[in-house]
Order: sequence, then structure tokens, then C-alpha cells
Amino acid sequence: MKFLLGGIAVIVLGVGVMFLIMNNGAAKTNPFPDFNVMPPLPENETVAAGGKDKSSGFGSDRVNQGQEAKPVPFDGKRAMRYLQSICDLGPRISGSAAMRKQQQLIKKHFEEFGAKITYQAFEAEQNSVRGKVEMTNIIVSFQPEKKRRVIICSHYDTRPIADQEPDPRDWKKPFVSANDGGSGVALMMEMGNHMKGLKTNVGVDFVIFDGEEYIFRPDGANRDRYFIGSEHFAQTWRQTKDRVDYSAAILLDMIAGNKLRLPVEINSHRRYPKLCEEVWGVARELNAKAFKWERGHEVQDDHIELQKVGIPAIDIIDFDYDHWHRLSDTPANCSAASFEQVAGVLSVWLQRTK
Ligand SMILES: [Zn+2]
Repeated sequence: MKFLLGGIAVIVLGVGVMFLIMNNGAAKTNPFPDFNVMPPLPENETVAAGGKDKSSGFGSDRVNQGQEAKPVPFDGKRAMRYLQSICDLGPRISGSAAMRKQQQLIKKHFEEFGAKITYQAFEAEQNSVRGKVEMTNIIVSFQPEKKRRVIICSHYDTRPIADQEPDPRDWKKPFVSANDGGSGVALMMEMGNHMKGLKTNVGVDFVIFDGEEYIFRPDGANRDRYFIGSEHFAQTWRQTKDRVDYSAAILLDMIAGNKLRLPVEINSHRRYPKLCEEVWGVARELNAKAFKWERGHEVQDDHIELQKVGIPAIDIIDFDYDHWHRLSDTPANCSAASFEQVAGVLSVWLQRTK
């Protein structure tokens, strides 16, 4: 993960400081009454059923109204074991031996569930690195014959530097990035146990992106390219003649922290508000309390590359995770209960979406 739109934060901060100066500290009214509060969720339980959403193209035809859907019996403890097995490989930097081991682990795992596995291999160049690096997105397809499909996705590479560590001497120490990258893969691995029995109207692709974290120079005018894998996946899809129809994509990023908090990411809600209402509405039904119907951060992440080619994509992300890009991003700071909340919501949403 990614960077915030720092400029906007600076402007908001600046305006806030100006407001305080102008009011000489006396007024306590909120200058941004709408900033922390989302529009109310529709009271109807089938939240996405009402009306057309012109901005997103979603409407009542997308969701089976009132369809009985129960969460799958997702095993959070087993997801934690998958997470541990991924982290036991060590740092999984794009092009590294550990990354190749992770690819084999993922392939073997999903083949046992009868999924179709596609390696989307390519070479990429990074601004700060000489030469090319091998990258591979992995696409795990369930019911591959279905033309209309949805995507659940995450990146699976880890950042070469733990650049949120305060002491730069720590940056190059082994960084396993459990929640950031690992958690999305582990959730999909556990979901794999439940996909065969899951009744869905759509085919499901788990898309696992490489090259989200291949960053050596994170800042500045000449900073490294982000989202190399998701860009490649999106552009390849766009250029495919007889391509499948993706009706939605949900990106998972840092979804297993033990203090999980999931407000709505701004770039998701701005472009696909109905899809956000569908997902957060299911969370409300299931009482999945980590999901907060509040404005979260505005985050640049893999979902943007999908949005660019017209795939309706949103990001479920805990951007306030304390251990982000730190050596302490380990399985010890993730939890089975967090996995279960997110997977429960996803599994109900998957059964309803069309
Ligand atoms: Zn990251």
C-alpha cells in the first residue's frame, strides 16, 4: 500500500488551521459538517435495491432482493495458519525466490479446489532499478465458463523496504508484511474451501496482483511506479477482444489487523457509491462491526487501475493499521476474528450480486 493524496491533506489541514486562527480558538463548530459523516444508508435491508445509481451504472437489477444468503463457515483460525505459511517464506519481493515459492504455494492450494489457475507473467521496469523484473499476476477462476464475473483481489508482493520504521537503519531488515498483502491472499485461500458449495449468479475470479509494492523510492518527482501488476491486468483485459464481463471488483488491503477498522475509502465511494452501499449494507445486516459507514481516507491503490478501464472497483482497506510498512506487520498483529468478519460480508455479497 500506497500513498495518500498528500496535497489534499495539506489543503484540508491548512484550511483547518486558518479556520482556527480566524476564530481565535473560540468557536468549536465543525467547519466541515459533512466530512466525517456518510450519507445515511437506505433503511431497506436490501440496500442496493432502490433506484438507479447513474454515477456508477448500478441499479435494482444488480441484486437479488431478499435472497436468503448466509455467510459461509469461514474458519478464521485456518486463515491465520495460511497467513503464517505465507509469512514463513520471508519477504516476498517481486522477482525473488521467495515470491516464486509463494506462487507455487498458491497454485497448489487452489488446484486442490478444482479452480482454474492462470499465471499472467510479464516483465516490468522500475524507475529506480536497472534492468527488468519478472512479475506474475495469478488469476484463480471459479466457474470459468460464466461470462459475467466479479473479482476479489489483493496484492501478494511485499515492499523491499519497511519505510515507515522511524529509524532508516531498520528499513532493510526482513519485512514479512503480514496484513499488507498477506492477509488478502490468506483470506482467499480460506475462501477457496467454500467456493464449490457457494451459490452465485456470477463467476468469481480471485485476482492476485504482483508489483504493488516494488518500491525503492517512494516519494519525490522521480518516484517509483506503483500498481504495476494491477495496471498490467487491467490493460490486458481492456485489450482482450472477447473479454469477460466484470460487473464488480472488491480489493482487499490490510483486512486482518487485530484492531480492524474499515471506513469507506473515498475513491471507492466517489465512483461506485452503490457498490459501497451493497457491501457496507451487508456488513450492517451481519453486524460486522469493523465496517464503518464513515468517510475513510482517500487512497491510491490497485482498485484505481481497474476503475481506469471501467471495471467498477472498490477498496476495503484499514489504512490506520498501526504496523503499516513496519517490521511489526506480523501475523501476531492480525486476528482470526477480523478475517471472519470480512469473509462473512464477502460471502453474502457474492451470493447476491448479479
Ligand atoms: Zn503496502
